[in-house]
Amino acid sequence: MKKLEQLVRPNILSLEPYHSARQEFKGSADIFLDANESPYNNPLNRYPDPLQLNLKQHIGAVKGVATQSIFLGNGSDEAIDLIFRVFCVPGCDNVVGFKPSYGMYEVCADINAVEYRKALLNPDFSLNPDNLLKLVNGRTKVIFLCSPNNPTGNSLDPSAVESILRQFDGIVVVDEAYADFSGAKPFRTRLAEFPNLIVLNTFSKAWSHAAIRLGMAFAAPAIIALLNKIKYPYNINSLTAQAALKAVKEPFKFGEWIRLILNERNNVMSAVRELRYCRNVFPTDSNFFLARFDNAERLYLYLKAQGIVVRNRSHEPLCEGCLRFTIGTPTENNRLVSALRCYQP
Ligand SMILES: *Cc1c(COP(=O)(O)O)cnc(C)c1O
Repeated sequence: MKKLEQLVRPNILSLEPYHSARQEFKGSADIFLDANESPYNNPLNRYPDPLQLNLKQHIGAVKGVATQSIFLGNGSDEAIDLIFRVFCVPGCDNVVGFKPSYGMYEVCADINAVEYRKALLNPDFSLNPDNLLKLVNGRTKVIFLCSPNNPTGNSLDPSAVESILRQFDGIVVVDEAYADFSGAKPFRTRLAEFPNLIVLNTFSKAWSHAAIRLGMAFAAPAIIALLNKIKYPYNINSLTAQAALKAVKEPFKFGEWIRLILNERNNVMSAVRELRYCRNVFPTDSNFFLARFDNAERLYLYLKAQGIVVRNRSHEPLCEGCLRFTIGTPTENNRLVSALRCYQP
């Protein structure tokens, strides 16, 4: 097994990070004259805690993860970008992922001038770990896995993920943005087993807070320290932290919403399965599902004309003819189903 230092970019390893005022002074004081803030407009005049300790303690309690194993970012997207910047030398290293999956991994790879090598999922959207591992070479630093996967909705077989975690001598990212909708055991509970594992979670989906832009990465403290080393000093603003704190104090509410969404999802899926012009409804573990139609393009435009926007995924590999439906409120879902039933193919 490679040491973490062998995976990290040399310039990041030797980097002297920025020291912010709030980091340099950690004790308690009455008068803060150290950060060139305004004394007026309390409390928004103050810089926030750069490491968000209080918020991490609350998140850690809900997620069952120690605070030193938590990184918070401006959406999961920040964590994804920082992972590239910590581990991948531009124009030299590569990462491996699969298709079809979440688009941000490849966009971040392109932005960072890092080659993104991708394997194709099986036609039933399951993952063959050997197909993925075949793409790994001496310059592969990170493997990106998404489970439940977007846009296909299915969870990966945990034994396939495990086999990659054990065989790959580098970082394995498991993006569990939709894990709260799934009955599968989340990989964030297995950090102790896998020192090379980074799990991504987000406030944007089951936690119903896409607007505040808060993503989480869970990993061994040594990996979290590297992400903290290169992040912007105050990457999580006070308003976001405050809204997130309020949310984690009422997990019951989100649990109720998840149950409601899953129940609705099963109803909508049954209704779609009944449509004459629907060829396939794919099993899902998420708050959305993929379905295949005779003429997806035309159906997409019809729904749009009805004021209903879904995601056209028909140009993604293995997703020919597929639209992706997110589950809305019961009223919204009823409108969708009525519109689908009225459609003349
Ligand atoms: C929606 C989504 C996210 C969330 O990204 P944020 O930046 O946290 O909003 C992450 N991964 C996947 C696969 C997603 O579908």
